Formats: sequence, structure tokens, C-alpha cells
Amino acid sequence: MLTSKENAFLRSQRLTPNDVYDGRGESQLERGEHAKAAGKSIVLAAACMRGHRLRTLHGHCVQCDISKLADQKRFSTAGLVYIAGSLSKELIRIGFSTDPDQRDSKLLFQSYGGAADWALLYSANVDDAGRIEDMARRRLKAFRATAEEIGEGAEEATDLLKTTFTRAHRALADAIGAGRCDKVFRARNRAKYDFAK
Ligand SMILES: [Zn+2]
Repeated sequence: MLTSKENAFLRSQRLTPNDVYDGRGESQLERGEHAKAAGKSIVLAAACMRGHRLRTLHGHCVQCDISKLADQKRFSTAGLVYIAGSLSKELIRIGFSTDPDQRDSKLLFQSYGGAADWALLYSANVDDAGRIEDMARRRLKAFRATAEEIGEGAEEATDLLKTTFTRAHRALADAIGAGRCDKVFRARNRAKYDFAK
């Protein structure tokens, strides 16, 4: 069912025909759901404008844009989403990790974005951690900290938010929605990170 070009593409991505769900003749929504249920990461569908037929579960052509495959992998990874805050810089950060014990590792936040006082304020284990992180960040796009607001360390830290814990938490909770969410951690002093203006 696959051409030799398609097989070569799969090999280049360390995938096999076994990773492909044949969704030809199904709607985008149907084949995405069926592929997911079958544990497949690639969907065979009608050709894109350049004649490629291999797609992500969301319908993006993976042969036109290989990064869609990395996004899909990242987005569908279960893990820990978290909110961290810095009192000294009055900044918030949303992230995700596949290491479930990350909250014990304070080192992770040290000196990020020029702040040495990162504290974990909230975390939860979720399915699709990458997707949830991405969705929450997009909801908070208007609060992205400028290089000026970050000051020292701004070059390495492009994902910092000039916002409050409560607003960040609301965005994350919205992104998690009705999805699975367990091992929830809330720091006792999280209200301190609602930087009053
Ligand atoms: Zn294409």
C-alpha cells in the first residue's frame, strides 16, 4: 500500500509501515481518532499539493514539514505540566517535563532567565503534556515578557510570562479541561506570586 519513497521516508524517521494507519476514504476527524486508538503515529490519506500521502494525526503533511512529526511526538507525550515563579523578577513560567520527579529537582530552575529564585508553584501529571503546555502558553501570549522586562538572561529565556500565578493557573486549568490530571501539587505560598500592581 506504500510506495518505495514513502517507505524510505518512514525509515528515515525510524518508523515502519506498522506505524501507518490507512485512513484513506475517512474524514480527517475519523482517521485521526482511529489512528490514535490503533496506536499509530502516521496516517495514510489523500495526497497533499506535492503528492505526499503521509500525515500526522492532525492532518499535517509530514513529508512537506518534518517538524510536524516532532511536534506530534512532543504534544502526545504524557508528563508533568508545571507553573514556576520568581519573586525577584516577578515572572511566571509554564513548562512540561517527562520526568515525574522533576518537582524535587530545584536545580532545574536555577538562574533561568537571570533569576535564581525559581520556585515550583503548581504541577500535575497529564496526558498530552506538550499539547497542554502549548495551549496554555498560547492563551497567555499577551503576557509574554519582553526582553526589557526580563533584563539579564533574556536571550536564553524566551518563554517567560509577565503575569500572575492565578492567571497562569487559570490558563493551564482551561488547557487541561476534562482530561486526566493527577498527582496535583500546589505550593502553599502560591498566592505570593499574584504580584499586586
Ligand atoms: Zn506534502
